[in-house]
Amino acid sequence: MRYVSTRNKTVSLTASQAIAQGLARDGGLLTPEVFPKLTPEMLEDWRGKTYGQRAVALMKLFLEDFSEEELTAFTQAGYSNQKFDDSRVAPLHQLDDNTHCLELWHGPTSAFKDMALQILPHLLSASLVKTNEDKTVCILVATSGDTGKAALEGFKDVKGTRILVFYPTGGVSQVQELQMKTQEGSNVGVCSVFGNFDDAQTGVKILFSDEKLRADLAERGYFLSSANSINWGRILPQLVYYISAYCDLLNAGKIQMGDKVNYCVPTGNFGNILACWYAGQMGLPVGKLICASNSNNVLTEFLSTGVYNKNRTFYTTMSPSMDILVSSNLERLLFALTGQDDQAVAGYMKELNTTGRYEVTEDLKAKLKDHFYGGFCDEDRTGRIIEKVWKEHNYLIDPHTAVAYQVMEDYRKESGDDTTTVFVSTASPFKFCDNVLKSLGVAEVKEGLDALDQLNQVSGRPAPVPLASLRNKPVRFDQSVEKEKMLDVVLEFLK
Ligand SMILES: *Cc1c(COP(=O)(O)O)cnc(C)c1O
Repeated sequence: MRYVSTRNKTVSLTASQAIAQGLARDGGLLTPEVFPKLTPEMLEDWRGKTYGQRAVALMKLFLEDFSEEELTAFTQAGYSNQKFDDSRVAPLHQLDDNTHCLELWHGPTSAFKDMALQILPHLLSASLVKTNEDKTVCILVATSGDTGKAALEGFKDVKGTRILVFYPTGGVSQVQELQMKTQEGSNVGVCSVFGNFDDAQTGVKILFSDEKLRADLAERGYFLSSANSINWGRILPQLVYYISAYCDLLNAGKIQMGDKVNYCVPTGNFGNILACWYAGQMGLPVGKLICASNSNNVLTEFLSTGVYNKNRTFYTTMSPSMDILVSSNLERLLFALTGQDDQAVAGYMKELNTTGRYEVTEDLKAKLKDHFYGGFCDEDRTGRIIEKVWKEHNYLIDPHTAVAYQVMEDYRKESGDDTTTVFVSTASPFKFCDNVLKSLGVAEVKEGLDALDQLNQVSGRPAPVPLASLRNKPVRFDQSVEKEKMLDVVLEFLK
């Protein structure tokens, strides 16, 4: 199977080349040219497998230059019971007869990015060997919270890799900051930057385009790369849990083979929901795909009007991982729905770059509506739904998950569609304690880690061990720099 650029189909790479390279040279996203079929017989077979075995079976279809032994080793390392606190890895929690929550936060950082970032570093490390890259990769990340920590945990002590994470001083929650400052591993670095997330991100972009730095590092045996969700190695592991959830529903007798299931996904960069759409294209019986946004509802508008317009107010919300105006992975959906029309996709992306806006054809609008429903949930409703789900279902959810739940309810009301639905839970409520406590009506929310205890007392639920144990971990990284000094930090780190 070859991987092509969404902006130029004549670019044709192997899986390991695509993963090692990350982004196509023309700025497009590297994407499988064809999608293998997922038959009912395969699903029947996968029902009897563990999560790790399902992951191997799926990834094997796409990664022809990797052996089954390699993939098995990766999943055993990434999804081990030292990393995940539930042996099912991505368990379903039933709310009522046809509503199930897919919990994707049982990994080491209590958010869904672990699902892919526990595997990507292994895929990348092996891809570098397969493509005869003799330099060591250094992953640079600018983070507003979740991604940085998940990448640090994923790359921790993975052979042939280093990772350096920058976050804005005061721009992440106290828990998130402690998570990063106490990071373990011999190949990791963490540094905060005075300024906001944009300053940190712009700083990283400047480093990536610094030719002199590139040459200096090459001499030292290093090259820079990123770990964001445009890399195919981050999308692929995400297809697994949608298929796995279907197998679990079959095993629990909630559905029969072939029955459609709707999936509702809280969406930011469009990677997670895209993975579900791909699973559907392969043959998983996916009904409606419900795309849930917060007040940054650029996708809601796009799915209903066919106009993508990033020229709008940016809102900072209590579901920060969805505070995004340009959803990069949408480009892969456009590529597929246009019948792989690379020129059309390149045109849309050019318009987006120059005017901040593009409008798709009538044909494409109709296709989008066939597959997707888009909705959004503002801050008030997010808070209320956390309280409602807690009271009515005795189930504690975080603000991102709450957005998904509310939009799922909106869709059901509007459409009358009562298909069995899986809504996706992307973070542990303990990761966003303060807003969860406030939503539950707690007037005085405590600071930092004390809020974990408080939520534990109010809910009777235990905090995830990796969060609760932060108290006892020594701080390893305590450096803060001006953004102009980020270059020095890199040079010092890769001395
Ligand atoms: C990253 C993230 C999302 C958004 O996922 P995308 O793949 O970017 O759409 C949603 N919720 C949480 C908690 C996240 O960390």
